[in-house]
Amino acid sequence: MLQLKPEHVQLAATATDQTDAIQQVAALLVQNGNIDPQYASSMLEREKTATTYLAHGIAIPHGLPQQRHHVHKTGLAVLQIPEGVMWGPEKAHLLIGIASQSDEHLEILRRLTRVLGEANKIKQLHTTSSKEDIIEFLTGSRPEPQETVLPDFAEGFDVVLPNPTGMHARPARKLVELVTPHEAEVRIRAGTRTADASSMMDLLGLGASRGTVLHVSAQGKDAAKVLQILKKEIPLGLGDDLTLPAQDQSTSHPALHFQASSGMQVQGLAASVGLAIGEVYQHRTHQVNVQDTAGDPLAETEKLQEALDHSRKELLEVMEGVRHRLGSGKAEIFQAQAALLEDPALIQQVVSTMLQGHGAAWAFQQVLDERILQLKKLDDPVLAARAVDFSDVKERVLGHLLGQQVQTGFKLDRPVVLIAEDLTPSDTAMLDPDLILGFCTAVGGPTSHSAILARSLGIPAVVGAGREVLSIPAGKASILDGFSGKLYIEPPEADLEAAETALKGWQEELETARAARHQPATTTDGVNIEVAANVNRASDVPAALEGGAEGVGLMRTEFLFLESDHAPSEEEQYQAYRQMVEALNGKPLIIRTLDIGGDKEVAYLGLEKEDNSFLGMRGIRLCFQRPDLFLPQLRAIYRASQHGPLKIMFPMVSTLEDFLKARDYAEGVRSELGAARVDLGIMIEVPSAVMLAEEFAEVVDFFSIGTNDLTQYTLAMDRLHPQLAPQADGLHPAVLRMIDHTVKAARKHQRWVGVCGGIAGDVEGALVLTGLGVNELSVAAPAVPTIKATLRERSHADLERLAQKALRCSTAREVRGLL
Ligand code: PEP
Ligand code: MG
Repeated sequence: MLQLKPEHVQLAATATDQTDAIQQVAALLVQNGNIDPQYASSMLEREKTATTYLAHGIAIPHGLPQQRHHVHKTGLAVLQIPEGVMWGPEKAHLLIGIASQSDEHLEILRRLTRVLGEANKIKQLHTTSSKEDIIEFLTGSRPEPQETVLPDFAEGFDVVLPNPTGMHARPARKLVELVTPHEAEVRIRAGTRTADASSMMDLLGLGASRGTVLHVSAQGKDAAKVLQILKKEIPLGLGDDLTLPAQDQSTSHPALHFQASSGMQVQGLAASVGLAIGEVYQHRTHQVNVQDTAGDPLAETEKLQEALDHSRKELLEVMEGVRHRLGSGKAEIFQAQAALLEDPALIQQVVSTMLQGHGAAWAFQQVLDERILQLKKLDDPVLAARAVDFSDVKERVLGHLLGQQVQTGFKLDRPVVLIAEDLTPSDTAMLDPDLILGFCTAVGGPTSHSAILARSLGIPAVVGAGREVLSIPAGKASILDGFSGKLYIEPPEADLEAAETALKGWQEELETARAARHQPATTTDGVNIEVAANVNRASDVPAALEGGAEGVGLMRTEFLFLESDHAPSEEEQYQAYRQMVEALNGKPLIIRTLDIGGDKEVAYLGLEKEDNSFLGMRGIRLCFQRPDLFLPQLRAIYRASQHGPLKIMFPMVSTLEDFLKARDYAEGVRSELGAARVDLGIMIEVPSAVMLAEEFAEVVDFFSIGTNDLTQYTLAMDRLHPQLAPQADGLHPAVLRMIDHTVKAARKHQRWVGVCGGIAGDVEGALVLTGLGVNELSVAAPAVPTIKATLRERSHADLERLAQKALRCSTAREVRGLL
């Protein structure tokens, strides 16, 4: 196949006449080492014998066969003449100079005749400024994007991708939706990879994981507007919940420790908790056999369009079903898949493959396989797991193109433990929890969409167990353990019975936790721990209270700022805080003042970019710098305090002066409004605040420990860092000793201590924190029933002993080992 590289293409040339144009193409061929200069006169001769003009402004000048000895190396050169040059009665704009030692030019001719039907596209090539477009059109493949780092446009900004699972389909689709209505070209760069922001495929191909710095740039009429929108939307998560930890997306459940005594055992990755006990069923995916049969390009294009339309319609139906059963969050997986089918870059690539003489099905498979391979190669397991979404879409469209039935559901007549190489999200959405007791896949990871769906469906799952599981004979008895990621084959009868008993016990435990969610978390020796929820919006309060939350231990007010394109006014904030107070109907509420900075950027505030944003103008420091933000917020909170109880908490306090100054601001506002006094507390999230805890305890009303930041600042590990974040465990003894120090200082002055960081909602974390003597745990709302139930089962004295042991450990792993 003839190669065409960017250096073989010259754009924006001008030529006085046909001879001048041929000489310029010949010069390009000489420059690239294809011919010696004499061959140029042979090319001119050839033109006299018969014109090389093809159609739509394309001519293919080449020499006479008898002068082939002047050709050193077969090759092509393209000269683009936007103005055109007269070629007999026609005007030529694209000259494809051919140097061929034998009959290779026939290959070019053959390819060209296939693509000549695309008159409009060819017309664009007359003036395009992209060599890649020309190369792709002529050869059918685009030069690898990695090789050509596209330059940033002049206007742009840097932003850190905050999404726990990186740039996956949902945020990519949201980006495309934000960009396409505008008249602007938007480019996003992650290191040396660039993506056109209107192409989902491109965006997924960036391989951007949480913490990746993206450079977003744009050009065109709406460039400034679209940049402003993206600057606001990307930090908000593009539809993802940013409060989820990167690895674990499940809600907190009590653990179950099961161990079979003998029999074959396979170790995979735990993807969805639960135990499944039943016979094995092997699910073989139907391999579609695609023959490369070239048909009439027009008819093939129509077939492709029909298949895409059908698939989109089906996906929207699946989406509706999933929305009904599992909620809109999970349904978006399928909406994103449907959006893939509209991706212009994808369609264009498929069509240009078809125009090279391939059938629609073969071309579609080829292009999708290439993308799947690219995703699998990325070193990010989360993004590599997204490859299965592409496979899912591929199978569906191929099914339609080949007139084969797309498999819907599993034809089962009894409950089984399903084993498959991998399950696509569509497969998983079809699983009937009454018949599929659990599933185990040979490949895949716990952050794949299938694993996320399994967790929502409550189906135990093990993934990435290796290919050997595919040869386990169907019908064998098995136990699948979604806690430890193990699959036991033919376990002895006693193990099957033990697993049944354990499972029943666990289900009862869950049920009891749920049933007792409104009971207090009182330990067996009578110590009561308050369990509250972290909630930011009044509309989420009823669900939290229904789940057993006793109040709101943390309202992150920065969310009001992050979700708006302007700083919310005093009045707007007053309404939001008042609604919160009213929704809680007398239950406790802690409102935290603005914690902007660090990873929380707000574009419209025009804050200066900092090299170390986590160590810079963040939280209370920013509030001191911007009284125009701080004072209206304090006024709004004090006004809302007249409608029900609330406390005020300041974030990122690192020195005593910080608190005294913040208190002065608050007291100033309060006396101005004539409002009643409210408790003023601080977040303990910086080591200096821990070391000064005694001094703080003398002046503040309460502490709430922010273990997310305290862990980050104690271990000096960026909480968003892709490699470090997983090691930054809030149960590290270094962090626990900080907490211990804080609690002791608080006790000395009879101060209340809560914990509102993520570790409070971890069953093991809750036990240790309670043992350290905290008064309250404020956790993600779905974790409330389990945390309460866990605490009710223990005695405080036991937990104190446990905490003392944890303090003496030297690693986080040892601490977790105690539990
Ligand atoms: C924390 O740091 O633990 C905390 C609760 O605050 P945020 O996560 O909002 O920084
Ligand atoms: Mg914090």
